Amino acid sequence: MAVTGGLKSFGGGIHPPIDWKSLSKDKEITPAPLPETAYVLTAQNIGAPSKPIVAKGDEVKKGQKIAEASAFISAHIHAPVSGVVKEITFRPHPVTGARTPTIVIKRGNDDEWAPGLNEETDVDALTPDDIRNMVKEAGVVGLGGAAFPSHVKLTPPPGKTVDTVILNGAECEPYLTRDYRQMMERPGEVIKGLRIIMKCLGVSDAYVGIEANKMDAYEKMKSFLGDDSNIKVELLEVKYPQGAEHQLIKSITGREFKPSQLPLEAGCVVHNISTAYAIYEAVKWKRPLIEQIVSVTGDGVENPGNFLTRIGTPVETLLSLATMKEDANKLIFGGPMMGIAQQSAAGNTIKGTGGILVMRGAETWEFRACIRCGKCIDACPYGLNPSYLSIFCEAENFQGAMEYNLMECKECGCCTYTCTSRRPIVHLIKMAKYDLGRERAREQAKQKSKGAEKQTVAAK
Ligand code: SF4
Ligand code: SF4
Repeated sequence: MAVTGGLKSFGGGIHPPIDWKSLSKDKEITPAPLPETAYVLTAQNIGAPSKPIVAKGDEVKKGQKIAEASAFISAHIHAPVSGVVKEITFRPHPVTGARTPTIVIKRGNDDEWAPGLNEETDVDALTPDDIRNMVKEAGVVGLGGAAFPSHVKLTPPPGKTVDTVILNGAECEPYLTRDYRQMMERPGEVIKGLRIIMKCLGVSDAYVGIEANKMDAYEKMKSFLGDDSNIKVELLEVKYPQGAEHQLIKSITGREFKPSQLPLEAGCVVHNISTAYAIYEAVKWKRPLIEQIVSVTGDGVENPGNFLTRIGTPVETLLSLATMKEDANKLIFGGPMMGIAQQSAAGNTIKGTGGILVMRGAETWEFRACIRCGKCIDACPYGLNPSYLSIFCEAENFQGAMEYNLMECKECGCCTYTCTSRRPIVHLIKMAKYDLGRERAREQAKQKSKGAEKQTVAAK
């Protein structure tokens, strides 16, 4: 039973009446079969895509680096299985939809790590720089959804002071239970991962934030802390988006910062529970990020579960493990609030795939004009005016939307959830941002070609 009253929280947000976590919360982490063919996209994270360093016909070993980070905000990618590179082709990205270079690996018979990996390390002997480099080498990215390269978060820029690390165990999206299972089944490793992060950042205070509907995970994590009073496990109100960085920091420390700023402005670094586990694996055992727990759940599957899944596994494999129902008609990567609906089940998992939601009876509807009820304004945790944003975005009045801080919207979907007129507010906002991005890219290209023209004329 969830605890209520007196819990740490933030302003705004929404409370879904049912969170549907019961479908998969008691399903233990189960290894999915190794994919016969792994489809490894070269854009797995926020930031620059990685550059392939293998070619068709190359033999690769599990954990071998196959694509290199191409910028500071980028991450290496490793072979999820041993085998042969069948081809490098284009596949649609499950988040952006863009056709993305993909390394296709046909699995061989063995599942052995590449030389030099899977070796125990003496963490006490490592310096902060050693830890940063190991996390970078292992291609760890944030596993809470955004997939931001983790080594970047472990490298605060000069002049910024971090005094607090927070682990996000809120898992506030309905349906998803991956982080809950991590806390129930791997609490010791998660706490060790947190200590590695603290050591790297030279921070002595840390918190683990857990929503009050996961009391057993709260107790379990506390029991693994022993006498360590520098790490506190905090119970949080059950409210979406409790796990978003701004809300988590506000709930736990009371510190606030602007939507456009990073947690560093509040002296905090936030990592997800599953990221802490991946950091532990990377540093303690020299294991690159090649697998991930994926919650496959929703009323569209017979057998929801939490499957330990190699990156690049076809979605169809996971759907057959969970037994998709015949009348399922909606597939979402992620949770229902921030997840991305998929056109088909022909895709594959990437590092940031923590959940696959399968639903029945998904409806479409006509939305109506805004009636100025103000519900979306009360719900917006960032203090924006989603009503006006939706009106401006619908009219493609980007100037107006920018004046209402379009770019500060974190796309949490609380406004859409509450809208009396069933307006797809967050979708209108996303479309506007996308169109604006394209417009800017076109303008930049135009300016660049004008610049090149001028140079050519001057040279003549
Ligand atoms: S989607 Fe954007 S506008 Fe809507 S509630 Fe979230 S942050 Fe506010
Ligand atoms: S909730 Fe919907 S109808 Fe109400 S103010 Fe917001 S956009 Fe308008």
